[in-house]
Amino acid sequence: MRRTKIVATIGPASDSDEMLKSLVAAGVDVIRLSFAHGDIPSGIERLRRVRAIAPDIAIMVDIPGPKIRAGSFGTSPISLEVGHELNLEAGFDQTSTDERIAVERDGVLELLKVGDKIHLGDGGVSVQVINHGKVVRARVTSGGTVTGKPGLSLPSSIMNDRLPTEGDRARLEALRSEEFEILAVSFVRSGFDVESVRAVLSRDDVMIMAKIETGEGVANLDEIIAHSDAIMVARGDLGVRMPIEEVPHLQKEIVRHGIRYARPVVVATQMLESMTHAQVPTRAEVTDVANAVLDGASAVMLSGETAIGDDPVGTVVTMDRIVRRAEQSFNYAEWGAGLGVQQLSASSTQATRVTAAITGAAWRAAMEEKAVAIVACTRSGLTARAISRFRPPMPIVAITPSHATARQLHGSWGVQEVFISPVSDIDGLCEVAIRELKRNGMARAGDPIVIMAGSASGGAAVTDTVRMLIVP
Ligand code: PEP
Repeated sequence: MRRTKIVATIGPASDSDEMLKSLVAAGVDVIRLSFAHGDIPSGIERLRRVRAIAPDIAIMVDIPGPKIRAGSFGTSPISLEVGHELNLEAGFDQTSTDERIAVERDGVLELLKVGDKIHLGDGGVSVQVINHGKVVRARVTSGGTVTGKPGLSLPSSIMNDRLPTEGDRARLEALRSEEFEILAVSFVRSGFDVESVRAVLSRDDVMIMAKIETGEGVANLDEIIAHSDAIMVARGDLGVRMPIEEVPHLQKEIVRHGIRYARPVVVATQMLESMTHAQVPTRAEVTDVANAVLDGASAVMLSGETAIGDDPVGTVVTMDRIVRRAEQSFNYAEWGAGLGVQQLSASSTQATRVTAAITGAAWRAAMEEKAVAIVACTRSGLTARAISRFRPPMPIVAITPSHATARQLHGSWGVQEVFISPVSDIDGLCEVAIRELKRNGMARAGDPIVIMAGSASGGAAVTDTVRMLIVP
């Protein structure tokens, strides 16, 4: 079984029913639906369709925050060469050309100053403002081709809206009654941003994933982790807003910090970019995906490769192969030992401290006795995510009476989820665990397994018990 999960972004190349089924069959664990493109009703329609086709896997909805887009350059690549000059003009639903970039937001052009740099898309093409008179004139400083509706990365002083933005608030209201498991929030800069979005969504069954893609996001990482349920290293914008040579080091730091506190961390963007049109990835991309696995990422993400690429399924199959091979070289024992028994949150409660301690004990017992599986009986999914942070070499089986938790855990590193009817006592849970492991061929008579479960001692149910059982 592959332990590191694969996230695939759905777009025009992959949203047919047939393609969605093929992507799931090829190994996609989480489907990402970007609400940055298109209107809200069509986003909701796509979400419902994906849910119907993929009832058991996690759906991640991604909201764009203050991201500003250019009007469409169309489907054929338009070349912008260094030194070429063009206008920036305000306008929604207007096309962009090599003579002008339509900026889909009012009040932005007025704030630009001569010398400001604007990056298009993931930063390959940049222009610099050279004149701010009746029209805003810019010169291309980094050339390349553009298609579709690239995001425009403007100076932070211009993109400093509070989260959720007005647009995101409307998206959250429309999403409130929909079935999805993860909400990825763009341009998170503080714990307050996360809490503000959480308050508007008002759902405790949806994990909030903070996308780290700005200098402020990096500076406030610990606080953001404390307030979020999961993290994304959004390398596209991060590489535009921070010096690009910082990206690999920030990736390692964000992954390490996030996992230590049991927050799944997704590494995203340009992972197999060349496969958008090529059949074989570059050596550098293969190495990048493998290194993300070795860094300890919970999941690796495909963006344009599956949204607008020529062969979404072939790209997933390639990623699956690279990840499986990299996992063979992952040093599981060293990772777990290096982690120690860490708290799950900087501001820990007694319940999370108990879960941290019990999962630490479960990991140690499973490693010492070479258990064939670690079973986490979990309602919210926390116990499974907490044991997952140790990266144990044996399968983590999450037994849960909640469908939403089961789907969420589908995106967590190393976790195989099993849905069960509620069982109230620990002996009953142990019986169910043994039955499920035997049924799935994961344990035979004589095998040691480790089980974590909770009792209602001291009030609310907390994972307070770890047992080692020899399968009868
Ligand atoms: C990114 O910037 O890397 C990212 C994932 O964000 P988006 O693609 O939503 O702009």
